[in-house]
Amino acid sequence: METYKNVYSNGEVIVTYEPSRCIHAEACAKGLSEVFKTSVIPWIDLEGASTKKIISQVKKCPSGALACSNIKTKQFVKDFVI
Ligand code: SF4
Repeated sequence: METYKNVYSNGEVIVTYEPSRCIHAEACAKGLSEVFKTSVIPWIDLEGASTKKIISQVKKCPSGALACSNIKTKQFVKDFVI
């Protein structure tokens, strides 16, 4: 079954979620539950924390299902500086 990437933005950062890569380790929900929610849809709410905290948590995703890029420069998370 094909799955589609989900795209979210708070005006500073674009966060993408690729369901087919997610291993459901819940590192995101445990680390930043204000943003990554397990019981509501949409499950990612970028208004729940600062951009810096969101980027820090996305970097901890063990599968690479979560990624983020700077909305202006399009730089991906490994190079991301705000
Ligand atoms: S941290 Fe990454 S792999 Fe784990 S549940 Fe969140 S998106 Fe999926």
